[in-house]
Amino acid sequence: MHVLRWNAVLRQWVAFSTDRQNRPQMPANWCPFDPGSGKVPDEYDVYLYPNDFPGFSPAADPFVPEKMPELFAENGPCGACDVVLYSPEHTLPPSQLTLENWRKIIDLWTKRTAEHAANPDIAMVCIFENCGEAVGVTMPHPHGQIYAIPFIAPTVETEIESARLHAEAHQGECLFCRLVQEEVAQRSRIISEDGYFAAFVPFAARFPAEVGLYARRHVRTLLDLSVEEKHSLAQHISVIRRKYDCLYGFMMPLMMVLKQAPLRDTEAPYHFHVQFLPLQRSATKLKYLATMETGYGSFLADTAPEEMAKQLRMCKPETSI
Ligand SMILES: [Zn+2]
Ligand SMILES: [Zn+2]
Repeated sequence: MHVLRWNAVLRQWVAFSTDRQNRPQMPANWCPFDPGSGKVPDEYDVYLYPNDFPGFSPAADPFVPEKMPELFAENGPCGACDVVLYSPEHTLPPSQLTLENWRKIIDLWTKRTAEHAANPDIAMVCIFENCGEAVGVTMPHPHGQIYAIPFIAPTVETEIESARLHAEAHQGECLFCRLVQEEVAQRSRIISEDGYFAAFVPFAARFPAEVGLYARRHVRTLLDLSVEEKHSLAQHISVIRRKYDCLYGFMMPLMMVLKQAPLRDTEAPYHFHVQFLPLQRSATKLKYLATMETGYGSFLADTAPEEMAKQLRMCKPETSI
């Protein structure tokens, strides 16, 4: 079963890829991402590895956009899923990647986004990383993923709608540009900043130690970033990841989410940013998404964003911005 089904109650597509359940058990001590495995080049620094069990694939049925899908509508999961190998070193935590390494990863993300932008079947490119066993990652090898999907992800749709409402109420102003300006002016939640990017704990953060990293200039996707901005992005990602790992003294389980504007709807008001969503609410306690969050979509937070920002500012990895 490889199909999208319409959830008419939540108005969103759910991707079914049931053969993922039959993933072969891998031999112990063998990792397909290691040089010498026969699955990747014998030498690489960063590498794009096609997902062996993709939820979205170029060979799938085409996606036919519908304004009002039927109650039990199905659609084609046309798209692509790739794994981005950050490094050939199996046990290297992402916080230990060099700046040069992050720059190469950003270049790979950008190249893949450009390739998908040329494909009219792709609506948006989701670039993300699940890090740590708490997020269900069993493979320690440092890696992230790129999903190219044929519809706009529900959260991004909500964000676009918020930006649209804000622009209507404020003479066309970008909601995200305004947020960044206010955070930089107020300072209490800022983690790091330079002329190109600013990182802060959002005013109403939903996750403990959540950080938003925003381009200072109004840019929509990775494709709009200058060389200087890409360098700054690499520096900020590196600093944030190192701060997280020194916060409790171990690798922070987290989701890193790159948010890019839809590729086709060039009118959609959007602003490139990266979200870091950690799942550790203290040194010993994990944050579980339970009934209020998952069942009702309403988050309960138990750390003040200003206090968390202060703690993250105080975590000083060897180099910072
Ligand atoms: Zn490995
Ligand atoms: Zn903006």
